[in-house]
Amino acid sequence: MAGPDNGSMRVRFAPSPTGALHIGGARTALYNWLLARKEGGAFVLRIEDTDRDRSTPENVEQILDALRWLELDIDEGPISQAERAPRHREQIDRLLADGHAYEDEGAVRLRVPGEGETVVEDVIRGQVSFPHASIDDFVIARSDGSALYNLAVAVDDLDMGITHVIRGADHLSNTPRQAMVLKALGASPPVYAHLPLLHGTDHKKLSKRHGAASVQELREAGYLPEAVRNYIALLGWGLDASTTFMTTEQLIEGFSLDRVSKSPATFEEQKLRWMNGRYMRELAPSELADRLEALLGRDGLEDAAAVAQEKLQTLADFWPLAGFLVERQPIDEGAWKKVMGEGARERLEAVRDALASLDSFDQESIESALRGLVDRFGVKPKEVFQPLRVAIAGSTISPGIFESVVALGREETLGRVDDALARLASPA
Ligand code: GLU
Repeated sequence: MAGPDNGSMRVRFAPSPTGALHIGGARTALYNWLLARKEGGAFVLRIEDTDRDRSTPENVEQILDALRWLELDIDEGPISQAERAPRHREQIDRLLADGHAYEDEGAVRLRVPGEGETVVEDVIRGQVSFPHASIDDFVIARSDGSALYNLAVAVDDLDMGITHVIRGADHLSNTPRQAMVLKALGASPPVYAHLPLLHGTDHKKLSKRHGAASVQELREAGYLPEAVRNYIALLGWGLDASTTFMTTEQLIEGFSLDRVSKSPATFEEQKLRWMNGRYMRELAPSELADRLEALLGRDGLEDAAAVAQEKLQTLADFWPLAGFLVERQPIDEGAWKKVMGEGARERLEAVRDALASLDSFDQESIESALRGLVDRFGVKPKEVFQPLRVAIAGSTISPGIFESVVALGREETLGRVDDALARLASPA
């Protein structure tokens, strides 16, 4: 394996496969990946799977799947930490032989000097000192011979030639121990960068309570990977004080650790929704349709996608808003009661006749015919449009009514209006 001195940057993402890939983990992966791409370095994936109960193949697959969806391609790996147990043991034996470690009731402990301190140079936090007085000789191997976490991480980072360790701030307290293991092995520490914690909008540590908390959930909620990448890049970093929308190429070019903040970043799903909406509007309609078809597992959504595009913030917004353009939806009874009151039948009949007698069923003709009815009845536009909307969409929420009618076509529109009229004629 390449050593850290060959000049090129080598970074790693080292998740423990405990289930879904959380937003914090995705950000760590993204920052590592951006730097590797910017510097022409290597992005290594190491699976920290020494907890055999939790590290199931399904959990590992979830991480790989989330990284694929985010399009963070891996240069090396996945490397299993568990499979490296013999190598960890070898280094434990070497530390014992060199006198840096000693046995204690079957376990092995690393000798920590009684005085002085270990200073961690952190690109984001500056120098962080850990006085040795507060660090005991710590266990690096259990009495069954297996390595402990800090030993395994240090040995793996060294063997894999990792030049920069970029990870969540929750690992800062492990860092002096890992640096001491490296020193005892005669190696110099990598560059460390501990990323800010993530909070929800209530300033508490990010968790499920704050909405979609994992990459998988964001995907199911209908976010686009390019929008997620852009948004999570901004959780603790910014190109400058104002730039929000950045392509992946711009992120790669602009990203740097020295603009990563120390203070916690706030995950705001509302902001992600808003950003996602803009990414959605910029997709070519055929591309939007492809993404919708993949998410919903059905074909033939292009026309409906084009009509709904302006109003969608996520892919998941599509079906409740525009599913009626694809197939008839059940009538929302609350909406029906609200708009099908006094006079609705007469207005809807007039709408039916107007639409049936149009020479050309295009948006302009439909709009002028329906607006003509508004004038004829002397009512507010919604008195004419809402009964039509509920008749064709089943609810009072839809894309623009004229576009919707065009997209549905004359026959289908009239069929649904007739059914609504029949129901108005014989109330249940
Ligand atoms: N496996 C650790 C985690 O999932 C990360 C360890 C590291 O990056 O050094 O939190």
